[in-house]
Amino acid sequence: MTNEMFLVMYASEGVGLAAPQVGVNKRVMVFNSDPPAKASEFVLVNPKIVKASTRREVDVEGCLSFPDVEVEIVRRKWVRVEYQNLLGQNCTRTFTNLEARIFQHEFDHLQQTLLIDRMLPQEKEITQRHMDALASSSSSSSSSHSLPSENARNHV
Ligand SMILES: [Zn+2]
Repeated sequence: MTNEMFLVMYASEGVGLAAPQVGVNKRVMVFNSDPPAKASEFVLVNPKIVKASTRREVDVEGCLSFPDVEVEIVRRKWVRVEYQNLLGQNCTRTFTNLEARIFQHEFDHLQQTLLIDRMLPQEKEITQRHMDALASSSSSSSSSHSLPSENARNHV
């Protein structure tokens, strides 16, 4: 299953994917902050945050589940995580910076928290209108939005 998740993620030019995004109700996520390098691939099963920095950072994120939305989201600078790997072994690892951001985004998916739930109220309203517009125009033609490549790294 995680191989397929990586395939979907790379095909979408994303850097992370959570099982619920592909309709699988499992607490599993994959991510790679430096695709396509295999060395930076992570598979996390049943992850939980055991410690997190008090310091937070703001950066722009997109979500593969909402391809046309990009918003500024506040995240912890680092998180310490306990999880099982694909072999079922217990692991503990601290993720920082981009990896920490991707992890927190995917962790939100596992908690059923959507990007829009983390947005500021005024951003929420703008995005809602944008999404309404997309929804009403989606039947007419396939959208041909291409995102700037420098932002693609945060699409999870
Ligand atoms: Zn997402």
